[in-house]
Amino acid sequence: MKKYLIVGSGFSGAVIAERLSKNPDNQILVIDERNHIGGNCFTERDKETNIMEHRYGPHIFNTDNQFVWDYVQNFCEMVPFINRVKTIYKSNVYSLPINLHTINQFFKKTLNPNEAKKFIESIANHNIVIPQNFEEQALKFIGADLYNAFFYGYTKKQWGCEPRELPSSILKRLPIRFNYNDNYYNNYYQGIPKHGYTAIFEKMLDAPNIEIRLNTKFDDSWDIKDYDHVFYTGAIDSFFNYKYGRLSYRTVFFNKTTTEGDYQGNAVINYADPEVPYTRVHEHKHFTPWEDHQKTIYFKEYSKETEANDIPYYPKRLKQDMEIFAKYETEKNTLDKFTFLGRLATYRYMDMHHVIGEALQIAKNFK
Ligand code: UDP
Repeated sequence: MKKYLIVGSGFSGAVIAERLSKNPDNQILVIDERNHIGGNCFTERDKETNIMEHRYGPHIFNTDNQFVWDYVQNFCEMVPFINRVKTIYKSNVYSLPINLHTINQFFKKTLNPNEAKKFIESIANHNIVIPQNFEEQALKFIGADLYNAFFYGYTKKQWGCEPRELPSSILKRLPIRFNYNDNYYNNYYQGIPKHGYTAIFEKMLDAPNIEIRLNTKFDDSWDIKDYDHVFYTGAIDSFFNYKYGRLSYRTVFFNKTTTEGDYQGNAVINYADPEVPYTRVHEHKHFTPWEDHQKTIYFKEYSKETEANDIPYYPKRLKQDMEIFAKYETEKNTLDKFTFLGRLATYRYMDMHHVIGEALQIAKNFK
């Protein structure tokens, strides 16, 4: 009999628990400090409207990894869903990610793909050879006009700092296209689970040798001797009681409204103007277009720096953060009985499919 403790019931913890549960000799305890499983992927039906609400913000599953896609479908039915995001800048609605429609509309042109490529090359900043940050990455590839309109204001609101302080990798998440494809993601598989994300976690964790304890925090009072191994998916700075300092994260919060009909006609609309205090508005019934709802719920999303009890969302990974993180990592590597995994424990910007893929790999290699 082997005993395992898993801290956190988001995708990292749930995948490890599910994989370990296949061996009936394993006894698995999953703890989570919140009052529900699923971490930030948690969904539940809104009491008044019955609309499936993504409590911690929109989650659209997308991956190129066949293995991850097949795996997740053991626990749900994925309904194909294409996220077509719009953005509003100076009272005009544009298409995202930046594509031929965006370029033609913004510059009031009718360019074809080749013309648009040449045009963007002519306005891009070729003095930047290897982009050192978010801003340089943008200026090198799309030039100042598109950058200032669609990225500068939004990014400042989202991250609370100058885009030149941020790594270029954040911008590389978004494609730039010279055709009319307005699918927000490039990945081959894209969908939304028919019955929400929480149902996936319930199924993953439904095994006789898995015990779940909610409202339970991991701290120094836990006696690790009782367990053969611990999988930790919480924030790494919290694990070490912030002894080398706090890592910076952005958190988001929402202002929810319930009303009749259709508020914005789309799942997600971004607000690029810096004067608008929120970054985007999501209207959740548009994530389940196969359901019929007379009413609607929509959320204005705001971003801010985390304070003591806020939920950490986005790791900022500024220079000073990475110096602090290196110290935690060195110390973490001395702890044989622990595996640190997931977005918070490894302080990385990860999507659901990255988290699942990595947890599957760790479970596979675990002896
Ligand atoms: N971004 C932006 N304008 C937009 C959308 C995104 O400037 O309209 C920038 C912003 O810095 C954001 C990054 O691109 O953090 C990555 O965007 P993505 O939509 O992938 O972020 P997520 O969905 O993870 O919040």
